[in-house]
Amino acid sequence: MGLVDTVIKDAAPRVFWTDWTLWPDGQTPAEYPSLERRTTADILIVGSGFTGLWAAVLAKQENPGCDVVLTDAQTLGFGATGRNGGFISDSLTHGLVHGAHRWPGELPLLLALGRENLAEIAAFVAEHRIDADLRLVGKTNVAVLPHQVDELRQTEKLHREHGEDVSFLGREEMRADVASPTYLAGLRIRGAGGLVDPVRLAVGLRRVAEGLGVRIYENTPVTQLERATSRVLAKTDKSVFDAGQVLLATNAFPGPLRRLRHFVLPVWDYVLVTEPLDAERRAALRWPQAQGITDAGNQFHYYRLTRDQRLLFGGYDAVYNFGGGGSEQRESSHRMLAEHLFTTFPQLAGVRFTHRWGGMIDSTSRFTPFFGTAMGGRVAYALGYTGLGVGASRFGALVGLDLLARRTTPRTGLRMVRRHPVPFPPEPLRWPVVEFTRRALARADANGGRRGPWLRLLDRFGIGFDS
Ligand SMILES: Cc1cc2nc3c(=O)[nH]c(=O)nc-3n(C[C@H](O)[C@H](O)[C@H](O)COP(=O)(O)OP(=O)(O)OC[C@H]3O[C@@H](n4cnc5c(N)ncnc54)[C@H](O)[C@@H]3O)c2cc1C
Repeated sequence: MGLVDTVIKDAAPRVFWTDWTLWPDGQTPAEYPSLERRTTADILIVGSGFTGLWAAVLAKQENPGCDVVLTDAQTLGFGATGRNGGFISDSLTHGLVHGAHRWPGELPLLLALGRENLAEIAAFVAEHRIDADLRLVGKTNVAVLPHQVDELRQTEKLHREHGEDVSFLGREEMRADVASPTYLAGLRIRGAGGLVDPVRLAVGLRRVAEGLGVRIYENTPVTQLERATSRVLAKTDKSVFDAGQVLLATNAFPGPLRRLRHFVLPVWDYVLVTEPLDAERRAALRWPQAQGITDAGNQFHYYRLTRDQRLLFGGYDAVYNFGGGGSEQRESSHRMLAEHLFTTFPQLAGVRFTHRWGGMIDSTSRFTPFFGTAMGGRVAYALGYTGLGVGASRFGALVGLDLLARRTTPRTGLRMVRRHPVPFPPEPLRWPVVEFTRRALARADANGGRRGPWLRLLDRFGIGFDS
């Protein structure tokens, strides 16, 4: 049996973060009841991932008398919030380069709001003693193909211009920091984010929300929204939420407002986690600051160490299936990730994998979330973080609450908030267009970063496909 076959043999088809067997006794999160009979709410939040959890907490902090109800179709961590890599960023624009290209005029404000957002998250975690392994250690972006070295140099300049603490590392310096024979250079970004255990953060948020008086339901999908004079009826299979206002935080899932489906592309992304590395293997990686690492291609990997010294390795193979469906398990993607991991770190040969999973990335054509209202302003939505929502979801929640309150803030003035992204075409066109774009991106990676006519055309309109 080859090295990579052990992935399939050993790894359990489950998410590492929500593997309760690894949690100390008594800490496994409780399940909440489903809604059995009609109830009322001032604000109903649909979806209890990060967006919904932050919205619940922030709504209560703002107005303790407000009756806030949070409902989810499943249980804690079912969506992307429970499945991600745990990279937390201050970027609201899917990275600085994209923000500078897409919203140059508003970039200073976007940066300030993003930095404030991350600082507030860190302060909240500290204040509420949430044991989420939040480490604001920044990250390193590595070049693994020759053309990416120049790209990193240009990115370094941009980061400096915007006051960020970055250093360009040449090949030897980079390999001295983290020992991979694939590295040609690196950009060490010291601030701007770090790493977190996403499920521990979600559990902490839920604890605070509950303490503030938020009522929580699970296994209660909202199937339909109906306007009723000054209320919104959010119907479930068994009952109904009679709500003054509704915030939709359903992300890449097909939620009850059908029109949002034009704007979100559910892209499947896969992840592997190893057993805890023993001292020898851990030392062979170097990596003293244990910052998260991403590589610089269009198709990129992200990887990091967990608190118990496992290597989490994901990304690269972003998959869109016809009609948007998909599976948490995809053997070819997991095998490919294992191969790439051993290419990146040959010194880990023989390490066992313990977990493999996949999840839906909430992609929009402009790589950032979008916002809006429906039903005369009684329903608001915030979704579509395109794989960078661990931090930005708090900002999304704030915007959602701004919209429900009909207040003008620096957030609501942003073009990113006022305008929707270009919609994706419907099927049967959607799949071929996405696939064509995906292949064009792979070709660009293979051709020294040169973007062909299709990608250049999309770039002109600031649209594309990313995870
Ligand atoms: C594999 C993977 C890796 C990622 N890595 C990173 C990363 O390292 N860093 C980063 O910043 N971002 C990352 N992301 C993206 C990030 O996880 C998301 O952007 C973020 O968690 C979005 O949170 P959310 O609350 O908006 O959505 P979700 O967490 O998806 O929550 C939506 C919730 O809505 C519920 N729901 C759906 N429909 C209904 C309904 N009709 N009624 C009731 N409830 C409903 C779902 O059950 C779900 O719980 C990753 C995503 C994936 C999939």
